[in-house]
Amino acid sequence: MPQKTLLLVPVGSPPTVLVNALQEPLMTHMGVSAVVSRTALSSPAYAFNKDRGQYHCNAIMRRLGTLLEESPQKQQLVMGVTDADLFVPESPFVFGEADRESKVAVLSLFRLRQGAEGETLRRRVQVEAVHQVGHLIGLSYCEDSRCVMFFPQAPQDIDRKQLGPCNVCRNELNRLNR
Ligand SMILES: [Zn+2]
Ligand SMILES: [Zn+2]
Repeated sequence: MPQKTLLLVPVGSPPTVLVNALQEPLMTHMGVSAVVSRTALSSPAYAFNKDRGQYHCNAIMRRLGTLLEESPQKQQLVMGVTDADLFVPESPFVFGEADRESKVAVLSLFRLRQGAEGETLRRRVQVEAVHQVGHLIGLSYCEDSRCVMFFPQAPQDIDRKQLGPCNVCRNELNRLNR
C-alpha cells in the first residue's frame, strides 16, 4: 500500500522526547511515515481566547496548513503538538482535532498530563496521536472502548484504549489505504 507521509510540528515548546515518541506508533498502527519538523511554530498567542483561558484549535490548524504547502519534502499530512489547552466552540476542551479536508490535525498535551507523567503520559500522547492521524486518513469514531478510535471523555478513557484500531477499524483502514 502507498505510504502516507506526515509532518510533525512542535507548536510552542512541547517536550521533544514526547514528539519523537510518535513516529514509531504512527508507522506501526496507521502505516504513516512521520518526520519531525526542524522548525517549531511559536506559542500560539494568536489563538488565545481570554474569556475561556484556552486556545482555539482552528486558528492553530490554519497556520499548520500553510506549513503543508511550504514543506519541501511534500508531506501529505501535518499534525501540530502543543502544550496549550485547546478548545472548539461546542466543547469545554478537546484532546485534539483533525480535519480530513485540509489534512491538518493538532494534539494537546495539556489535558493528557492530568494525573500522569513518564510512561503513562507518553502512552496517552501516542494513543491520541494515532487517533488523530486515524481521522486524517478517514476513520471516524468507534464504539469499541478499547479501540484507538473510541472518543475519550477523560484521560482515564485513553488509558483503557489500545494503541491500534479494532478489527472493524483496521478493515476500514486497509480499504482507505488501498
Ligand atoms: Zn477523534
Ligand atoms: Zn474501532
